[in-house]
Amino acid sequence: MLTTASIKQAALAVGFDDCGVAAAAALSDEEYPLREWLRRGWNGDLDYMERNADKRMDPRLLVPGARSVICCVSAYPPPSSRGGVAAYARHRDYHKDIKAMLFALMQKLGIEGRAFCDTAPISDKHWAARAGLGWIGRHTLLVTPHWGSWVNLGEIVTAEECDSYASPLPSSCTSCNLCVEACRNGAIAAEGAPMIDVRRCTAYYTTHHPRPMPADLSDGGYSLGCDLCQLACPFNR
Ligand code: SF4
Ligand code: SF4
Repeated sequence: MLTTASIKQAALAVGFDDCGVAAAAALSDEEYPLREWLRRGWNGDLDYMERNADKRMDPRLLVPGARSVICCVSAYPPPSSRGGVAAYARHRDYHKDIKAMLFALMQKLGIEGRAFCDTAPISDKHWAARAGLGWIGRHTLLVTPHWGSWVNLGEIVTAEECDSYASPLPSSCTSCNLCVEACRNGAIAAEGAPMIDVRRCTAYYTTHHPRPMPADLSDGGYSLGCDLCQLACPFNR
């Protein structure tokens, strides 16, 4: 059986900034309001989010026999300016680096599993929240106490058991709502479970399937993605 202390130590050794381990079980609708988001049609034409909804909610359907989800955080520098290209895209493509670090972590721990980084029907941020690495902010991104939301995430789903599992952190968003006010398009739900109407989000038009934005929406000066809600967040200062 693995210990969470040894996993975290190994994760830091291969280059991650933080690591937590969650028991592989279904996420609740409160933790991940995917079904309500789909019911509202706030996924726009991101049809793939509907196709594997059950797997997104339960990693045991993605990796049969899964017992643990090892979640890893890699922080990146906050943007030095606003507008243009969103912060996450200003650096080299993180997917390959995170995947390589996840494989190095499996090798170091001597375990088998499947490594994910934004590449399969598993929600990196909701699993990181379950693993106690932060909470899902009102803008729907993971907010970590130390690096705010300027983080990339990856996880290993494995049949290995761990000696203990993390509990989710309580949300520290309270009644802040600064990200809601910062969004020029009203894309962020002001109350209830954190949700974004992607049809009103700049990133939807500039990253997923680049296309013209409706005339009533503003790109806020961004040509790829958008950081405005993150820049407003007190945890990112
Ligand atoms: S990324 Fe930009 S457009 Fe999308 S929700 Fe945040 S502030 Fe609004
Ligand atoms: S700006 Fe405020 S409400 Fe939005 S994610 Fe940050 S702390 Fe939460």
